[in-house]
Amino acid sequence: MSDEPDSMHIHLTVPSDLYAVSNGQLVQRERIDGLHVTYHWSVQYPINNYNVTFYIGAYEHFQDQYLSQESKKLDLDYYVLDYNTTIAREHFKQVHKVLEAFEKYLGPYPFWKDGYALVEAPYLGMEHQSAIAYGNKYLRGYLGGRIPAEFDFDFIILHETAHEYWGNSVSCTDLAEMWIHESFATYMENLFVEYFYGKSAALRYLQSSRQYIQNKFPIIGQFGVNDEPADSDQYYKGAWMLHTIRQKINNDSLWFDILKQFYKNHEYGFASTQDFVNLLEAKTGTDYCDIVNQYLKYATLPELEYKIIQKSEYSGVSFRWKSNTKNSTYL
Ligand SMILES: [Zn+2]
Repeated sequence: MSDEPDSMHIHLTVPSDLYAVSNGQLVQRERIDGLHVTYHWSVQYPINNYNVTFYIGAYEHFQDQYLSQESKKLDLDYYVLDYNTTIAREHFKQVHKVLEAFEKYLGPYPFWKDGYALVEAPYLGMEHQSAIAYGNKYLRGYLGGRIPAEFDFDFIILHETAHEYWGNSVSCTDLAEMWIHESFATYMENLFVEYFYGKSAALRYLQSSRQYIQNKFPIIGQFGVNDEPADSDQYYKGAWMLHTIRQKINNDSLWFDILKQFYKNHEYGFASTQDFVNLLEAKTGTDYCDIVNQYLKYATLPELEYKIIQKSEYSGVSFRWKSNTKNSTYL
């Protein structure tokens, strides 16, 4: 995973009545004979091996444009099956809001020269770089449900677009640390809600995901053996950990500065858990190693133990946090 080419060319020859879509920009559509055409695609950024893909289908292609805060134009390309063109034209308008919120928190969309694309696929979704697979059937939430009823956004567009920043631009070097992709992408969902619906709505969105936290396995797996996290705690529990750290810092402008800095430090490159801990300490003067380790390297949650003391002269409560890490600094 840590070995990314700095660019890529992809050539796909298909029957001439079909469209072949891949990562990056289409540079040429070359007629081979009366029956076949070759599509030449070019990726101008580093790319993960699992992000390289292609789609072949009877696609209808339509375009839109996003204007950045600095009025720079980003190409939005959509490839959908022809009978979905009308609904897709309406549904994909929400991409503007997603890009706007993420730009605010992290900076411009990372793969500007390659453009942003959604491509209809027969599966739910996948964050293929600059060619996101879309299969949420033009519904709100996750196939029409899963997110609180008060929200109408498409979960797949939101989550997979967040991966363009976390996962595709900033990548981990070992599958053991996939939380860097999934926890930050899931946390960005909450920030999108906070940006457009307010802080209390974001807390409701976060609360709604708590039911999926399992605490059965550590989020960080074994290094060097392609050991991916065992369950979905890398999404929700990891996002909750980031929320917890934000509460502990108790200074939103500092927290958002840390988030943006962590992203910028590793844009188009790689980041580790230790990089995040180091940045937290540099920015806050506090060692967050135990907190991060407790939530990522152990399955169990820290436990609050307390004792009520009643004596003739006074009464009180003594308490402590019980954790797997050596110092209990959770207060
Ligand atoms: Zn994901």
